[in-house]
Amino acid sequence: MADCIFCKINDGSIPSLVVYEDERVRSIMDINPTTAGHILLISKRHAKNILDTDDADLTALTLVVKKIAPPAMQAVGADSFNLIVNNGAAAGQIIDHVHWHLIPRRIGDGLTNWPGQIGDMEELGRLAEIIRSQLA
Ligand code: AMP
Ligand code: ZN
Repeated sequence: MADCIFCKINDGSIPSLVVYEDERVRSIMDINPTTAGHILLISKRHAKNILDTDDADLTALTLVVKKIAPPAMQAVGADSFNLIVNNGAAAGQIIDHVHWHLIPRRIGDGLTNWPGQIGDMEELGRLAEIIRSQLA
């Protein structure tokens, strides 16, 4: 797709540091890593976000995580990782081409995960009911 950075990375017109690729997925080093070893898994086919992505591409993106996470962690001495998908602008998605962030983590690496708060069970139940009714 014209003017899509990740499509340009996929066709080679923008250079990238590729760590893995197959017919559906290209994995590259993130140019602004959150932690050492931060990798992006990019669908080869353009789709804006998870909801626009076909099931085979979603499956392929997820399976590549299992392949890449062990060597990515090993490369930086990590034993954990976050898998993050920013889906939509309010969720922090800047590049509108579906991608997974694989972020190696170590105890004491200085990053904090997002906070939770004690839930209001009545409100939780109300939301669950609304969501269930949409799925019925
Ligand atoms: P998101 O906020 O989920 O859309 O994340 C986009 C990610 O793409 C950011 O982490 C950027 O650092 C990364 N990024 C942007 N341009 C490039 C590039 N040319 N090569 C590698 N990573 C990139
Ligand atoms: Zn694209």
